[in-house]
Amino acid sequence: MLPLTHREGDMGFNAFAEADLACLRDLVGEARVSTGRSNLELHSMDETHHRGFLPDVVVWPNNTEEVSRILAMANDRRIPVTPWGAGTSTEGNPVPVHKGIVLDFQQMDKIVAVRPESFQVDVQPGIKYQDMNKALSRYGLFFAPDPGANATIGGMVANNASGIRTIKYGATKDNVLKLEVVLPTGEVIRTGTLAHKCSSAYDLVHLFVGSEGTLGIITEATLRLAGIPEKYSAAIVHFESVEDATKTVYEIMGSGLQPAALELLDEDTVKVVNEEGHLGLKETPVLFIEFTGASEESLREDLKKTKEICSGNQAVRFEPGVGRDERNRLWEARHKTYEFIKRHNPGLSFLVVDTAVPIAHYAAIVEFARRVVQKYGIRGYFLGHAGDGNLHLVVAGNFDDAGYAERVDRANEEIVCQAVSLGGTATGEHGVGIGKRKFMVQEHGSSLRVMRRIKALFDPNGILNPGKIFPEE
Ligand SMILES: Cc1cc2nc3c(=O)[nH]c(=O)nc-3n(C[C@H](O)[C@H](O)[C@H](O)COP(=O)(O)OP(=O)(O)OC[C@H]3O[C@@H](n4cnc5c(N)ncnc54)[C@H](O)[C@@H]3O)c2cc1C
Repeated sequence: MLPLTHREGDMGFNAFAEADLACLRDLVGEARVSTGRSNLELHSMDETHHRGFLPDVVVWPNNTEEVSRILAMANDRRIPVTPWGAGTSTEGNPVPVHKGIVLDFQQMDKIVAVRPESFQVDVQPGIKYQDMNKALSRYGLFFAPDPGANATIGGMVANNASGIRTIKYGATKDNVLKLEVVLPTGEVIRTGTLAHKCSSAYDLVHLFVGSEGTLGIITEATLRLAGIPEKYSAAIVHFESVEDATKTVYEIMGSGLQPAALELLDEDTVKVVNEEGHLGLKETPVLFIEFTGASEESLREDLKKTKEICSGNQAVRFEPGVGRDERNRLWEARHKTYEFIKRHNPGLSFLVVDTAVPIAHYAAIVEFARRVVQKYGIRGYFLGHAGDGNLHLVVAGNFDDAGYAERVDRANEEIVCQAVSLGGTATGEHGVGIGKRKFMVQEHGSSLRVMRRIKALFDPNGILNPGKIFPEE
């Protein structure tokens, strides 16, 4: 396990007392409050390499009113509150580092209203996006952001999650219209509109999106939906080298083509996917490319143009026209890549490097990261939402070995710093959590001071998800 780099100092919180427990039981009833060891452990860490922390208590609220009362009480008594979705974050985002109350939204998982004619749905935060999409399919609609793991909408909004479809449909932030949010005082606000365009006053919706539960707690979200595409086509393209593959990404994006997904896997990752997912792919660096649309003819044109670009970049094999079944099998394997890597490396721990750069620098960051992996002699698997300039590198190893953990930490740091210095970001989609706090000064400079003021305005007592986003001063 990598060392926790932040100070666990006193932030002026009060220790959680018997009287606080009694108060929570009064507010929501005994059955939805737990101090049982197994429940505390289940809410102590996400899918992270960071150290876990047990909260004092877990509460499962049922409605906005309860959330409001719990926050007002915690704010009065200076007790930390950390919201919890499905716990699939990879940077320690929902880990209750200062203990206190974890609010688990599992029971607030309803679809409140669907307005298919306006492409909108209102949902509670605990609904899992895959369950929501299943329910929406009867309207021929879906919520496009797709983080792979079965995350909740609350967690996706709070982390501004994205995934393989972001290249066409945008990240979560591009698909949230309105939010109901509870502030630490217990005040409930509704912000945003049902219009798909809006230039009205300060954009609070997008202040809450990506704020990782540090400014307010989302109790309802209005999401923008897309029509389920009628036709799909996909291609798997093999290259001699990662450099050829990344150059191709840049050219596809500059050609006017609009892929619905454009994913890169390096040779080692393809090997794992083959072995664990039984795919039988040629073991070279690979691009998975998908187009969606209304007519087969336009999709054929897209593939033709894509093939020309790939050939110009020394593609060694181009497998076009993958049918729907094959395409589904492929995407399932892509979604499960992290799981496959874990299965392939039993007993080891994992760190997922997540950075994004301007597309013109994608080849450079991939090349840089590959050199860093070699330099530190660590085991790394490259995969990325290449079309968005988003690089993921899954590093496997025994992090209890202090020497190895130190090398992984340094490799992560070098790659992230390089991405930021190329004009990119410390995190393309996983959020800051605990792990990316140390890069915030380099990335945001003096605007970090403004962010601190915003935090102090919304949450003057600092009770909401403390120990995240901001580096210690
Ligand atoms: C295998 C795997 C693959 C992944 N792939 C991707 C990917 O492709 N793209 C991507 O973006 N992410 C990916 N992730 C990361 C993760 O799935 C996303 O960040 C996801 O959005 C987290 O959602 P969650 O419901 O698990 O939230 P949690 O992890 O429980 O919480 C996330 C954050 O949201 C806060 N929060 C939760 N609920 C609320 C609420 N109601 N109000 C306010 N704050 C709240 C929490 O405090 C925390 O800060 C992956 C993770 C795994 C394990």
